[in-house]
Amino acid sequence: MNALSNEVDVVVIGGGQAALATAYFLRRTGLSFILLDAESSSGGAWLHAWKSLRLFSPATWSSIAGRQMEPKVGGYPMRQDVIDYLADYERHYQLPIERPVFVERVETSGERLNVISGSRQWQARAVVSATGTWRHPYIPAFEGIENFRGEQIHSAHYFSSEKYAGKRVLIIGGGNSGAQILAEVSQVANTSWLTLTEPIFLADDVDGRVLFARATERWKAQQEGRVIDAPVGGLGDIVMIDSVKDARTRGVLHAVRPFKRFTENGVVWQDSSEETIDAVIWCTGFRPALEHLQALDIINPDGRIQVTGTRALNIPNLWLVGYGDWTGAASATLIGVTRNARSTVAEIVEALS
Ligand code: FAD
Repeated sequence: MNALSNEVDVVVIGGGQAALATAYFLRRTGLSFILLDAESSSGGAWLHAWKSLRLFSPATWSSIAGRQMEPKVGGYPMRQDVIDYLADYERHYQLPIERPVFVERVETSGERLNVISGSRQWQARAVVSATGTWRHPYIPAFEGIENFRGEQIHSAHYFSSEKYAGKRVLIIGGGNSGAQILAEVSQVANTSWLTLTEPIFLADDVDGRVLFARATERWKAQQEGRVIDAPVGGLGDIVMIDSVKDARTRGVLHAVRPFKRFTENGVVWQDSSEETIDAVIWCTGFRPALEHLQALDIINPDGRIQVTGTRALNIPNLWLVGYGDWTGAASATLIGVTRNARSTVAEIVEALS
């Protein structure tokens, strides 16, 4: 990299699992590259996950390219195991990461892309955006939400259940976050679980491996132009990890459909009964964190970018890795992102040669 003008072949924006998997393949190409990560330490979104979060796949199925996560005694890895694994991964491969660097925007500049953070700039021949979704929590519109004076947080900011002891808590959202947070908070608080449709629970013996195998099957079918009508199951289908099984045994794992509206102190249910609620935890997912690409004018109304595989259709030297199925089947998982990182780097090498 030319130190004065910060000219570099590839800039990877982000420092989570998707960025590291991409860096693993970049370091084998001879191209100059750098990772710019907004966090102050390793781990990406896992740094912000709640303390008791347990993965839904065993360690051997929760590793990225080249380096196996150590098997965990007593079950699936916890949040801290992933953070330690990703930190060790960076050290082991001596990846060039600058942090904390928050990339404010990316602009076109002739054949290059300018990556800008405050007064600093990098001129890149190719950019990989691997910024994940954690920074873009999604809360759907609910009537009266602006009147509600109780506490509201998104699962992105939930850390542990202590503060909800003895309270009346509404958990909204029917995916893994909703189920795992309900399982934990229901042990100390009086909870209701609200989902738009009946939650889908996977069989007790099905875990992330099966989800990954199904996503791979779907990905292969797409590659071969076949259509799969068997239920594939997405990341939203609930994996029955121990805490969720325990919640089922305690009889708290049943969901109700949405209420009519919020009031100042609670909600009005469909039967017009009112209920006081102390806190709402929104487990309603995320949207891609792509604000730094706004200036390129390629973000669609749905918050995504048109891609072929992981390559931006309208900016041929921009790739997107790790955002979920629209950027590659299972790309938002540790086990799934390697495949997309590998194909992305192969395309970059071809495009820059
Ligand atoms: P992130 O981990 O979000 O990393 C993105 C990085 O980019 C962050 O460091 C961020 O600070 C940085 N960044 C963002 N914007 C900028 C910017 N403008 N400039 C510079 N840096 C920026 N996955 C699994 O594989 N197995 C599981 O069992 C599993 N369980 C899950 C359970 C729950 C409840 C949830 C919510 C998710 C789960 N996931 C699981 C998914 C996984 O946590 C995420 O998909 C993963 O963190 C995505 O990795 P990433 O590298 O794409 O993004």
